[in-house]
Amino acid sequence: MLAHEIVEDIQSGRVSPREVVATGLQRIARLEPHLHALIRLNPQAEQEAARAEERLARGEHLPLAGVPVVLKDNICTQGLETTCGSKMLASFVPPYSATVVEKLRQAGAVVVGKANMDEFAMGSSTEYSAFGPTRNPWDLERVPGGTSGGSAAAVAADMAPLALGTDTGGSVRQPAALCGVYGFKPTYGRISRYGVVATASSLDQVGTMARSIRDLALLSEAVSGYDPMDSTSLEAKPQFMTALQDSAKGLTIGIVKEALAVGNSAGVLEAIERFRNVMEAQGVRFVEVSLPTLEYALAAYYIVNTAEISSNLARYDGTLYGLRVPAEDSIATMMQSREHGFGPEVQRRILMGTFVLSSGYYDAYYGKALRARAKIKADFDAAFSRADLLLAPTSPFPAFRFGEKTADPLSMYLADIDTVAVNLAGLPAMSIPAGFEGHLPVGVQLIGKALHDEQIFTAANVFEQATERVFVRVAKLNGV
Ligand code: GLN
Repeated sequence: MLAHEIVEDIQSGRVSPREVVATGLQRIARLEPHLHALIRLNPQAEQEAARAEERLARGEHLPLAGVPVVLKDNICTQGLETTCGSKMLASFVPPYSATVVEKLRQAGAVVVGKANMDEFAMGSSTEYSAFGPTRNPWDLERVPGGTSGGSAAAVAADMAPLALGTDTGGSVRQPAALCGVYGFKPTYGRISRYGVVATASSLDQVGTMARSIRDLALLSEAVSGYDPMDSTSLEAKPQFMTALQDSAKGLTIGIVKEALAVGNSAGVLEAIERFRNVMEAQGVRFVEVSLPTLEYALAAYYIVNTAEISSNLARYDGTLYGLRVPAEDSIATMMQSREHGFGPEVQRRILMGTFVLSSGYYDAYYGKALRARAKIKADFDAAFSRADLLLAPTSPFPAFRFGEKTADPLSMYLADIDTVAVNLAGLPAMSIPAGFEGHLPVGVQLIGKALHDEQIFTAANVFEQATERVFVRVAKLNGV
């Protein structure tokens, strides 16, 4: 069921939060052995449902009453392990919950589990999880995308109608596209990151996933808003529900020329074409726009990303928390702990980041990447003087096979070609299910102006209504 249907049924008394959560947990028990979407179930889920029930009985207004939600495992949950998909934090139990978790609880939602992810949110396939990969519910031989692959697979298979992920360079949008669900990354600062484990702080955002645009708006509205605990948090009031208008007439969408020029698969190009045709029939105008510096986005991203990773991950030194491998002295303890705690991709990024920040190389790499970042932002500004929203693929191809890209890290990085520029510029963007290539789902990406996130919801709502939700089916696991 969809989240807004559950809320209606619960509020009208047709079903209780405890019944909804019990049914959800049964479905998870049946599907989880095939998907491995979760790292851990929340043993408190039934009690949380009971608490939501009591609050409803007292007449409290709970916009997500009894709705099961899955959280990516880099979002801190008090008393419940938060591993970041890493051996380093395998037994870390946070002493407090992230603001987004507190907000979900206030809204009456029930956390049912913690979702699998690429270690410390580095990767594009969830194959880099220290706890084994997640499978794509549309094809169990393929990856769900990453790094929020567990969240996307869980929503696609309806283990829960809603999930939170994080998006540093596409980790909500790309797995959403590969699993056939919506994935939304807000303007930098609109959702609090207090209690979310940092990967690359100038890029990281919490993002939302759902199987209908109404559900996505409900969830996004519940978790966003100003948070005094996050110094990058913005005052902007969330208006996602009121953005679900029936008309997008008069809107102009710019098609990003450069994003279509690089090798996209046939199904991706078809989905872009379909989106354009459907929206033109709804009175939306399309223009071509150019982002000349887009070709530098991936290089700039992987310098900024690794530089910030090398700094953020310095805290895992075997001293205060996380894995500790005792050795002969403190330096050796630090080295052993980091060598055993971190997987190869995390080690690779720490090395790259340390290199690009080291004296003598700082200007050649990091300084240049910052200048490229500024130019990319300026390109977006110019494009937005001609269009309200921009249209591009979310991923150049649908879900790929296990092992296809792990042997060559660069080929994995290239999977992010359509998403990373948005993080460099701090813009809002959404992946919208818009077709299938064979049996595999395909998404298209709408990018908005900073703080104009709501316009994306309006356009996505119009597309969903015009196409009668044919692209957001629940995945039927083959042979299960
Ligand atoms: N795939 C990108 C990377 O590996 C994005 C990761 C993310 O958004 N967390 O950096």
